[in-house]
Parts: sequence; structure tokens; C-alpha cells
Amino acid sequence: MTKIWNFINGEFVAPSGGKYIDDINPATGELIGKIASSQSEDVQNAVDAASVASKSWSSLSMEQRIDWLNKIADALESNKELIAETESRDTGKPISLARRVDASRSISNFRFFAKFASEQKPMEFKMDDAVNYVHRKPVGIVGLITPWNLPLYLLTWKIAPALVMGNTIVAKPSELTPLTANLFASILQDIDFPQGVFNIVHGLGPSAGQPILEHPEIKAISFTGGTQTGRIVARTAAPLFKKLSLELGGKNATIILDDADLEVAAKGAARAGFTNSGQVCLCGSRILVDASVATKFTELLLKEVRSMRQGDPKSEDTEIGSVISMQHLEKVESYVELAKQEGGTILTGGKRPSFSNEEMNHGAFLEPTVIGGLDINSRTATEEIFGPVVTLHTFENQEQAIEMANSTEYGLAGSVWTKDLARGRQFSKQIETGIMWVNTWLHRDLRTPFGGVKNSGVGREGGQWSLSFFSEMTNICVKHD
Ligand code: NAD
Repeated sequence: MTKIWNFINGEFVAPSGGKYIDDINPATGELIGKIASSQSEDVQNAVDAASVASKSWSSLSMEQRIDWLNKIADALESNKELIAETESRDTGKPISLARRVDASRSISNFRFFAKFASEQKPMEFKMDDAVNYVHRKPVGIVGLITPWNLPLYLLTWKIAPALVMGNTIVAKPSELTPLTANLFASILQDIDFPQGVFNIVHGLGPSAGQPILEHPEIKAISFTGGTQTGRIVARTAAPLFKKLSLELGGKNATIILDDADLEVAAKGAARAGFTNSGQVCLCGSRILVDASVATKFTELLLKEVRSMRQGDPKSEDTEIGSVISMQHLEKVESYVELAKQEGGTILTGGKRPSFSNEEMNHGAFLEPTVIGGLDINSRTATEEIFGPVVTLHTFENQEQAIEMANSTEYGLAGSVWTKDLARGRQFSKQIETGIMWVNTWLHRDLRTPFGGVKNSGVGREGGQWSLSFFSEMTNICVKHD
């Protein structure tokens, strides 16, 4: 049985209270680890280590820190398969997805920020009689709190820019998926990464996460997770005037215009809806289709969804795995029931699949599910389900499509499908969201701003936005003759 301890000052240490939480493989129900259930004392120990390490880490040159990022990327690369296998076991996601998305992106987060930081030019603003020099400093100790859907991918998306800007870190990964953060820590040990610069405190949100939010020496909180938790984070950290980045939930629209290539759009909508069992904040969980093409599109979509191979995450050809836990499965299923009460029709899916491999019948699986016939303002169509469930709606004209797309409290992402690229761009400007894709989905350039509006969050990550978040600026105005 793997025991997952905290990682403080370069060492794995048991939680101070001696308590542990079960770590379950959601595809089988098997107990795969015992995770440290930490509390304030553990956070204090991590902050003490980060505080001592801060002096030497922040005094390294940018080039030296960039070298470290590249060394970390190399070490992750050597462990890529192990990262993918570990992530797949902890989350129930297919191994091919864990390799292609989670492991790859965890590596490229370090490579990207190493390169991006090396390309930064000094910021200077000349006046007639003076020059302004903008000096960037580390924020200090930063708290990183992350969810379970893309565990190492999202954690490293914060670690890399935080490190390169000279900060030290106290991280709390999701209690449901601690394994790859733990693996990351042991990889840092292997490469003799400086002690105390990166620390992990495992455990539950209220007991291990809340003390991070409240700690006066932690100067910035970068949080990715649900909107409800985001409210708690904001309520706690804002009065302490901490820098705050909130990446929260979504209920994104995939919009099929009347001139879309329907074959391409159906594949795109299925991918947007069901990647990672619908557990990506960017997933298109509402599909809006022009009524004039709805019959043909629905037929193509259902064919696509029914052909998705659901099964053992360890199999190379599996496209859909389980959801994250039995508890989450029950929540997702409750929305399928709600949809029926709200007048919806299950067009495909809606049930737990049965497998010949008996152990997987204890797993948290739900067939990919498409629901039609719901009002766009129904609860099923407006609340974040975060599972393999999409709702399908029709619109009569473009204005109605925009109104429908904007009709939730969320505003994270969306995609529009049309053969007219100028129309796609124009349409995208009218959607209340942080990210729009035209004829694609989850196509990412890490230099671009990533984040949401409305209840999907505050602030942006990516490129210069991440570097700015993880630094403080002093403007030095030098008067000359
Ligand atoms: P969650 O909000 O339940 O948990 C996220 C993290 O916050 C976990 O580590 C959890 O332990 C911690 N936490 C909980 N209570 C806390 C508290 N009081 N103080 C400090 N930390 C606390 O979210 P989840 O269920 O792990 O993840 C799913 C959610 O994340 C979905 O809503 C999804 O849309 C969202 N998400 C958003 C993005 C984005 O970039 N916008 C990316 C991925 C996931």
C-alpha cells in the first residue's frame, strides 16, 4: 500500500496528526494508497521551509532558474510513461489520454515557461527627462491549490511560472488524485532540486487548504477548482490582500451554425463533450445547433458518441474511462434523473455500462450520454455537471444562438463551427467567455490568455499573464537632465 506523505524541505514527512485518507482507483474501486490528511501545523512547516529557501532561490539569476526548469522538464520526460500510468490509475482516465494530454503537457509547461521567460525583454518607458525601469520581483511564498481532473497538468501549469519568477511554493493537490504530485516530488529529489523551494501539503480542503489561504506569509493564491470553493477562497484571501487567481467552473457551449461542415462539427462536438469523461473545465456540455441542420447533425453526433470505446483505462484503445469517484458518479447520475423530470429525452447513454472484466463493474463508469428536449434554462442545461453528459438544443437564428450561449452564470470557453471563418470570429466576440475556438476545441498556444468571466473566474493564466501574477513590479523612474 502506497503511503503518500507530505513533501517539506526536500523530504517526505508524515502528517503531524498521523491521519490518512483513502486513495481509490475509480475504475476498479480498489484502494491504491493512503494519503496524508494534513492540518495547520503541516502548512506551517511547509511555510517555514519555503521561507528559508526563498532567500537563495530568489537570488538566483533568471538564467539559473530557467536551467532548473529545463532540468525538471528533462527529468519528467524520462519518467513520462510512469507519469501517464500513475495519472491513469489515480483518475480512471484512459492511458492514451494520460500520455497524450496529462504527461505531455506537464513536461511542456516547464519547457514553455523556460523559453518564454528567456525571451522577456526589459520593460522601459522613456520620457523627455526621465526613464522608467520596471523591475520584477518574486511575490514570495505562493500557495497553489488544484483539482483532480488534470492533476499534474494543472499543478505544473502553476509551478513552472511561479518558480521561474523566483517564488517558493506550498502546493495542495486534490485529495482525490495525489499520486503524480507525489511522483513529481520524488523526481525533484532525484535531480537534487534545492530543498524547500517546492513543498506539498496533502489533504482535505477545509483542513489542509484553508490554512494555506489564511497564512499571512503566503502572499498569493493560485486556485483552480469549483466555483463554490472559489467563493471560499476569495472570501478568505481577499481581506488579506493576497494576489488571487481563480480558475473556476464552466458550462460551455458548442455552437453549430447552419453553414458548418457537419461531419467535422459532429466529431468536434463529441470530442469537446466527452474528453476525459466530460471532466475538463473547457468541455462543451451544451451543444447548440441551427434548427435547419439539427436532424442531420444529431444523427452524426449520436453515431460518433455511440462509437466511442469505453472501458479499461489501461487498454490502449480505450477512449472513455470512468469518472473520478463513485460519489461523483452518483452526482452525475442525479442530473440524468433530473433531466428526465425536466422533460428531457435520453438520446443515447444514461446508464452504467457493464463489462466482462468483473473488477471494472465496481468502477465509476457512466455511458457517454446525450440528452435532448430540455429548455435552455433548465437546471440540467445551466448547472455544471462535469461528467459524460451533454445537452442538445436547437436555435432558429444567430441572435438566438448568442442569447442561448450566454444564458448561464458561467463564461469560460466555447466553440463555434462554421465554414465562414470571418463569421466565426465575429460570432465569437459576442459570447461572454474567456476563450472561443472556431472549428476546433482545446487547441492551445500557451502564450495566450486562459481564464474565464462571470462565475468562471477572475484573472488569466498563460504566457505574460502567469509571469505577471507570479511577480511584483517596482517602477523605478530615473530623472536625467
Ligand atoms: P474543488 O473546488 O472541490 O477542489 C479544488 C481544490 O480545492 C482541491 O484541492 C480541494 O481540496 C481544495 N479545497 C476545497 N475546499 C477548500 C478550502 N476551503 N480551502 C482551500 N482549498 C480547498 O474542485 P474539484 O472538484 O477538485 O474540481 C472540479 C472543478 O474544477 C470543476 O468545477 C471544474 O470546472 C473546475 N476546474 C476549472 C478549471 C479552470 O481552469 N477554470 C480547470 C480544471 C477544473
